[in-house]
Amino acid sequence: MALRVQKYGGTSVADIKRINNVADRVRKAYDQGDEVVVVLSAMSGVTDSLIALAEQATKTPDKRELDVLLATGEQTTAALLAMILKSRGYKAKSFLGFQAGIHTDKTSGKARIMNIDCQNIQQALEDGHIAVVAGFQGTDKDGAITTLGRGGSDTSAVAIASSLKADVCEIFTDVDGVYTTDPRICNSAKKINRISYEEMLEMAILGARVLQTRSVEFAKKYNVPVHVRSSFSEEEGTMVVNESSDMESVIVSGITCDMNEARITLKRVPDQPGVSAKIFTPLAEAEISVDMIIQNTRSGGETDLTFTVTKDDFERAKEISYKVAKELGAGEVLTAKEIAKVSVIGLGMKSHSGVASTMFQALASENINIRLISTSEIRISCVILAKYAELAVRTLHTAFGLDQEK
Ligand code: ADP
Ligand code: ASP
Ligand code: MG
Repeated sequence: MALRVQKYGGTSVADIKRINNVADRVRKAYDQGDEVVVVLSAMSGVTDSLIALAEQATKTPDKRELDVLLATGEQTTAALLAMILKSRGYKAKSFLGFQAGIHTDKTSGKARIMNIDCQNIQQALEDGHIAVVAGFQGTDKDGAITTLGRGGSDTSAVAIASSLKADVCEIFTDVDGVYTTDPRICNSAKKINRISYEEMLEMAILGARVLQTRSVEFAKKYNVPVHVRSSFSEEEGTMVVNESSDMESVIVSGITCDMNEARITLKRVPDQPGVSAKIFTPLAEAEISVDMIIQNTRSGGETDLTFTVTKDDFERAKEISYKVAKELGAGEVLTAKEIAKVSVIGLGMKSHSGVASTMFQALASENINIRLISTSEIRISCVILAKYAELAVRTLHTAFGLDQEK
C-alpha cells in the first residue's frame, strides 16, 4: 500500500467529463489499496476569468479580496470531484486550504506556505476516505484566505506530499512529462525520463511552467519524489529526483523561454557609490523582485543601468524608476515590454566550456540580437526581442543536439 498525492491541473479538470476521468484514475489507485490525496486546480481559464471579473469591478482590486475571489475556482473543482466520487459509492471528503491546515504568510496573491498541519487529512485517510484538497490556497495567521501565485496548486501538492511523507507526488497535466523544451513551441522536443531537482528548478525559474518554481524548491528541500505525467494516458512521465553521477554527462538538458519579463533602463545615472542602492531599495520595499541587472561603463562620471522585472510588476517598477531618476538627476527612463528571455540549462555546464559561444553563434546565425546576458553555474540566459522567441528556442534546441530523431 502506498500513499499517493495526485495533483490535476486546469486542463485535466476543464469540464465534468474530465473530472469524471480524474475520478476514474483516483478510484483506480484507491481500489488497488493505495491511500489517495487529490489536489485540484481550478477549471482551465477560470482563474483568468475571475481576475478579469475583478478588474471589471475595479481597476485596482484589493489584494485580500482578490484572493477570496480566486480561491473559489479551486473550491468548485474540489467539491465537484468529491461529489462525483461519493455518487459512485466511494468515501471522499473535500478540504479547502484552511481545512487542510495550509498556513501561509500574509503576501496576498503570492503567499508562501509556512507550515502544514495535516491532521484533518490524515484522519480522513485513516477513516478510509479519499481526501480532495483545493489547491492554490491557504490561510494566513489571521485566518484570511491567501493564494500561492499562478500555478500554485503544484506547490500545494508537493507541500502536502512532504508533510504526509507520501511515497510519490504525481503531477498530472496536459503533457506527458517534462520535455527538453516546451513541446508546444518545438515539435522535436524530447521527453526527459529523469531530471535532477536542480535542473528542474532552473527550468521552472526560467519559464518552463510545467511545475511552479516553489513546488520544485519544496521537493528539493524535503526530497519529495515528483512524477510529472499526463492525465490523458497511462504512460510513465518524468521523475524529478536527486542528481546522480550520470546526469552530469549531459551538457545541456533543456531550453526555456520566459515571455513574462519587461526591461527598464535608466540613462546617464551618476556613477558613484550608493546609487544602485537608491534605485533598488525602493523596488525591494515595494516587493518587486529584479531579475537581470546590467550596468554599462561610460565616460564623464555617468552610466546606464538596465534591469528586468516581471510584467506584473512592470507598471509599479516604472513609476518608481521615474521617481528615482528624477531624484538622482539621471537622464531618460527607457522601457521595453516586448522582450523574451531564452535560456539553456544543464548540470554538465559545471565542467564544460563553450556553451556560451555555441549559444551566441546559434542566435547570430538567425540574426537575433542579444540585449542582455546572465549566467549561473548551470545556465545561460539571453534577453532578445519577443518576436524572435520561438525561432530562438528551436534554433538553440537544434544547436545543442536536443532534437528528437525522426
Ligand atoms: P496545468 O494546468 O496542468 O498545471 P500548465 O499549463 O501549468 O499545466 O503546465 C503545462 C504546460 O507547460 C504544457 O502544456 C507546456 O506547454 C508547458 N511547458 C513549458 N515548458 C515545458 C517543458 N519543458 N516540458 C513540458 N511542458 C512544458
Ligand atoms: N488556478 C491557479 C492558476 O491558474 C492555480 C493552478 O492552476 O495551479 O494559476
Ligand atoms: Mg500549472
